[in-house]
Amino acid sequence: MKHGDSISRRAQAVSPSATLAITAKARELRAEGKPVIGYGAGEPDFPTPAPIVEAALRAARDPKSHRYSPAAGQPDLRDAIVNKTQRDSGFVVDPSQVVVTNGGKHAVYQTCQVLVDPGDEVLLPSPYWVTYPEAIALAGGVPVIVETHESSNFTVSVDQLDAAVTDRTKMLIFVSPSNPTGAVYTEEQIRAVGEWAAARGIWVMTDEIYEHLVYGDAVFHSMPVVVPEMADRCVVVNGVAKTYAMTGWRVGWMIGPPEVAAAATRIQSHLTSNVNNVAQAAALEAVSGSLVTVELMRKAFDKRRHSMIEMLESIDGITCAKPQGAFYAFPNMTGLLNRPLGGRTPTSTLELAELLLDEVNVAIVPGEAFGAAGYARLSFALSDADLVEGLERIADLVASGE
Ligand code: PMP
Repeated sequence: MKHGDSISRRAQAVSPSATLAITAKARELRAEGKPVIGYGAGEPDFPTPAPIVEAALRAARDPKSHRYSPAAGQPDLRDAIVNKTQRDSGFVVDPSQVVVTNGGKHAVYQTCQVLVDPGDEVLLPSPYWVTYPEAIALAGGVPVIVETHESSNFTVSVDQLDAAVTDRTKMLIFVSPSNPTGAVYTEEQIRAVGEWAAARGIWVMTDEIYEHLVYGDAVFHSMPVVVPEMADRCVVVNGVAKTYAMTGWRVGWMIGPPEVAAAATRIQSHLTSNVNNVAQAAALEAVSGSLVTVELMRKAFDKRRHSMIEMLESIDGITCAKPQGAFYAFPNMTGLLNRPLGGRTPTSTLELAELLLDEVNVAIVPGEAFGAAGYARLSFALSDADLVEGLERIADLVASGE
């Protein structure tokens, strides 16, 4: 590598996104003609609903869209996000608190840039979404991993937070429904965590991107609504990607105290300027429209959730608690390790994932990517036929042993 030495320490320290890497590898193998089934990507297989696409087409034809617009987002979209937030979670905010970003990922990054100083510690419950530790580190912060376990449905307790907190703790990253585990915190659990943070003056970045994707008895609750006293040290991250099948459009937002929003806007004004106006028009249609299509997609995911869990559980060596939200199963796969499989003996879920891709053309994301070796993440946001076919391939391989 000719310029290896020239790359900054900061950039060298960033790991590539494991989930995007698995998706890219699956795409590559598919291009070579291999019948790959990918459980890697965290995105719905549905097309974006037609009215949203139509709104984008109209915006593309309007010369107003062809110009720069305010860095913090189009005023009508910020207003609509205020209304949508009140409608969906009950959190009442002012448009000055909203910054429209290039996806939820950008909102996560920017929140860390605004709140975290070098050396600040950020509490991060594991299993965690792959982007969080990198976004913390890119701000010079130190991710402090708080390990959660299957036995507590991968939710973090106040006792665990107490054991991890120091006088350098600046922020906690909280996500419910969770990627990668699908865990949904109860209102009581959210209250406990929110009150804990408020009592210590610790900021919370709460990621609500899966708010509409909850199943069974699970109910989504927004932390600043459950615990109003933490609202002035809280940043809500959200976006249209998962709810409206709009991952490629790249629109998200952050909602925080006005000073936080203003600081984020200053950064954004140099980093990206406004988010693509056509995509903002699409997002405006999405968040101000009804939730009927969202509910249809949720029902389809729920059906797939049942099929996936049933099939996973029927495989000798795999156990899987039922996810209550998002669109991921997070099975325990330790029973498939250290025994012959497909001519090898995988000793880690990392090796198991490689083996499954090589032997049966099935892509899963190993738990190591989320700080949880022994587990794997499988998205159930893929077609019913693919969902069944890929799991049958795993089941057949396991049944045949060597
Ligand atoms: N938060 C979580 C928990 C996610 O899973 C994702 C997408 N994988 C995002 C934020 C970001 O989504 P996007 O950038 O596509 O809006």
